[in-house]
Amino acid sequence: MSDPSAQHGAGSRPEGWAGSPRSEPERYDCVIVGGGPAGLSAALMLGRCRRRVLVCDTGEGRNRWAHAMHGFLTRDGTPPSELLRVSREQLGPYDTVELSERRIVDAARADGGFDLAAADGSRLRARRLLLATGVVDELPAVPGLPELYGRSVHHCPYCDGWEWRDQPVAVWGRGENGAGLAESLTIWTRDLLLCTDGTGDLTDESHQRLDALGVRVRLERIVRLEGSDGQLERIVFEQGAPEDRRALFFSAGQRQASELPGKLGCQFTHQGAVDTGKCEATDVPGLYVCGDASREAQFVIVAAAEGAEAGMAINQALLEEDLARLRTGTRSPAASASADRSRRSAG
Ligand SMILES: Cc1cc2nc3c(=O)[nH]c(=O)nc-3n(C[C@H](O)[C@H](O)[C@H](O)COP(=O)(O)OP(=O)(O)OC[C@H]3O[C@@H](n4cnc5c(N)ncnc54)[C@H](O)[C@@H]3O)c2cc1C
Repeated sequence: MSDPSAQHGAGSRPEGWAGSPRSEPERYDCVIVGGGPAGLSAALMLGRCRRRVLVCDTGEGRNRWAHAMHGFLTRDGTPPSELLRVSREQLGPYDTVELSERRIVDAARADGGFDLAAADGSRLRARRLLLATGVVDELPAVPGLPELYGRSVHHCPYCDGWEWRDQPVAVWGRGENGAGLAESLTIWTRDLLLCTDGTGDLTDESHQRLDALGVRVRLERIVRLEGSDGQLERIVFEQGAPEDRRALFFSAGQRQASELPGKLGCQFTHQGAVDTGKCEATDVPGLYVCGDASREAQFVIVAAAEGAEAGMAINQALLEEDLARLRTGTRSPAASASADRSRRSAG
C-alpha cells in the first residue's frame, strides 16, 4: 500500500512556526508535545495563565487527509488546516507560549520534572509534560484507497456519515467489526454493501442480521478502488461484477503516534489508549496525556476540551508548587528563567 503521507506532504513545516536547535537545555513550566487541537487548546489555557510553554509539533495531525471537519459546533465543515491556522494565530498575543516544529524523541523524569530530547539535538527541561501526540490509523491494504482517503473513504460515520446520507455506500471490514460498522451506517443510508475482502469469517447469525437490514455482502478479495479527484466511483473485485459506490467506510486498527507514553511508563487500556484519570492526569507524576492519545471519544471538539482541562490542571499543580516555594523562599527554575528574560528585555 502506498503511504498517503507521500501524496499529502506530511511533516512539512507548519507555516509561521519557529524553532532552532539550541545547545543549552531551555526550561519551561510545561512542554506540550503535539500541536493538534488538544495541544494547542492546552497551550491557550496555559498561556492565559502566563505559564512559560513550548509546543513541539511535527505537523502530522490525524485528520490532515480530510477536506473538511464535521461535528465541531461553530466550525462544522471547516478544513482541519484552517482550524490549526486560526488556533496558532490566536496564540500570538500570549508571549509566554512558543511554537516549535521540533520532534521530541525522548523523555525521562528528572528532578521532579522532565528532561526531553528533540530530533534536532536540542534538550529541554519541563516542570510538567503534556503529551497530545495523537494516534495513527492503519489503512486497509487496498490499491486506490489512499488516494481517496479523507474525501470519499472514511473510518468514522459520526465525522462523515451525514455527507453520504441515502447514497450507495460500501463498508470494508472483516468479521464482526465490519458487520457492526455496516449496521451502524444504516442510520445514514440503506444502500449498503459490506466487503469482507477475501475473508469469509462472518457468522451465520451476522449474515442473517445483515440480510434483515438489507445490507448486501461481497466476500471476494478487492482488487482496487477506482475514482477520480478523491471521489470513489467503483469497487473492482477479483471475481464477479464491479460495484458502483459513492463512498466507503472502513473498520481497521490504530496505534499511538508516539512511543513517549510507553517510554514514560503510562498505563494503557485494552484498546491501546493511555489510561488517564481526572483532567487527563496519568499515573506518572507530572505527566498528562490528552486528545486522541488518551481514552475518551476521538473528536476534534473532545480533544480541544481535554486540552483545556489538562491546561487548567497543570496550571493548578504549578500554582500549588509555586506557592509552596514562595512560602519556603525558593523560586521555580522556569519562573527564574522567565524573570531573567523579563529583566533583560526591560533593559
Ligand atoms: C480522515 C480523518 C477525518 C476525521 N474527521 C473528523 C471530523 O470530521 N470531526 C472530528 O471531530 N474528528 C475527526 N477526526 C478525528 C480527529 O482528527 C482527531 O480527533 C483529532 O485530530 C485529535 O486531535 P489531537 O490533538 O489529539 O491529535 P492530532 O490532531 O493527531 O495531533 C497530534 C499532533 O502531535 C504531533 N506529534 C506526534 N508525535 C510527536 C512528537 N514526538 N514530537 C512532536 N510532535 C508530535 C503530530 O505531528 C500531530 O500534529 C478525523 C480523523 C481522520 C483520520
